[in-house]
Amino acid sequence: MDANIVLLPGDGIGPEIVVQGKRVLEAIAAKFGHSFTISEHPIGGNAIDDFGDPLPQPTIDACKASQAILLGAVGGPKWDDPTAKTRPEVGLLKIRQELGLFANLRPIQTWDELVDASPIRREIVAGTDILFFRELTGGIYFGDSGRRPHASGEEAYNEMVYSTGEVERVVRLAAKAAQTRRGKLTSVDKANVLEVSRLWRQVADRVVKEEFPDLEYEVVLVDAMAMHLISRPKDFDVVVTGNMFGDILTDAASMLPGSLGLLPSASLGSDGPGLYEPIHGSAPDIAGQNIANPLATILATAMLLRHSLGLEDEAKAIEDVVAATLKAGHRTKDIAGGGAFVSTTEMGDIVVNQLG
Ligand code: ATP
Ligand code: MG
Repeated sequence: MDANIVLLPGDGIGPEIVVQGKRVLEAIAAKFGHSFTISEHPIGGNAIDDFGDPLPQPTIDACKASQAILLGAVGGPKWDDPTAKTRPEVGLLKIRQELGLFANLRPIQTWDELVDASPIRREIVAGTDILFFRELTGGIYFGDSGRRPHASGEEAYNEMVYSTGEVERVVRLAAKAAQTRRGKLTSVDKANVLEVSRLWRQVADRVVKEEFPDLEYEVVLVDAMAMHLISRPKDFDVVVTGNMFGDILTDAASMLPGSLGLLPSASLGSDGPGLYEPIHGSAPDIAGQNIANPLATILATAMLLRHSLGLEDEAKAIEDVVAATLKAGHRTKDIAGGGAFVSTTEMGDIVVNQLG
C-alpha cells in the first residue's frame, strides 16, 4: 500500500528515537512491499527556537495531509521559563486539537524477561495485556471552570460534562479493538455518584448491546478498578473510560510492567491520521548520548501500522521482533539493571536486522 507518514522528532531524545522508528518503518516497507512516503517536521522547543511557534502552520498542514504521525517527545529545561510567551507542550496540545484526536490508547503489556522489576509480584503481573482507551477531549478537564466568592474566602469549581455522542464514539472504538483482541470490554465509571457517569454507563451499555453483542462486557466503578488493576491485572483486555479516570488509571497501570521505557501510546480521531508516540518524555538528562531506549517508539510504529494503516501482520512482525530481542538478552542502559548494554543505534540495528 501507499501511505504518507509524518515524523515529528521534537526535543531531547526525540530525534534519536524517532530515527530508529523511521528505520523500522522503512524495513517493514521493504519486507512487505509497501511504499511509505516519510517526511519530518518541527514541533516543540526546537520549533520555538527556529520559528517562534511550537507548532508551525506547515507542520499542521503536513500532519493533516498524512495517514499517520510518529512523534518523539517535546520539551526540556531550555524552554521551562514560566514567563515565556509559549511552551513546547502547547504544540502537542494544539496538534491533538487540530486533528480531533479524542481517544488515547495505551497498551499495558508486561515483558516476561523484565517483569521482576515490577513493584507487583511476578505471579500477579506476568502475562498482563491491557489496552486502555481514555477519552481525551471532554470531561472535567475541559468543562466550565472558575472561582467565585464564598463565606470562607472563595470557592472553585470544574464542571464535568459528557454528551451522548462523545461517549458513543470512544466506546465504539474501544469495542472494535476488543473484537480484534480477546473479546472483553470493561467500561469504568462512577455511576453510583456522578450523573455524568450514569449517562456514560447508559450509552456504553446501549452501544455494546446493539452493536457488539458478541463481546464479554462489564462495568466497574473507578475506585474498585484502581484495586483490581493492582490485584488482578490479567483479568482485563480492553478498558474504556473518561478523561480524568483514564489519566489516573493509565499512570498507575504504567508501573505494572516494571519498565516505563517500553510503553507506546496512540491518539485517534474518527477519521484522519492518528498520532503515535512513546509515553515517556524528552529525557533531557540523557539526550545526545546515544543511550535512550528506542523500543517504546518502535512499538509505537507497530501501533501506527495496526490502527492507522490496518496492517496487522506488519504490526505483529515488529512486536514479535521486539519480544525476541528482549528474550535474546539485548538491553539498553535503562533496562540493563547495571549489566552490559547496547546503544540506541545498536538496538535499532538489532531490531532492523531481524526484520530484513
Ligand atoms: P514528561 O516530559 O512527559 O513530563 P518527565 O520529564 O517526567 O516526563 P521523562 O522525560 O520521561 O520524564 O524522563 C524520566 C526519566 O526516565 C529520566 O531519567 C529519563 O532519562 C528516563 N527516560 C525516559 N525515557 C527514556 C528512554 N526512552 N530511554 C531511557 N531512559 C529514559
Ligand atoms: Mg520531560
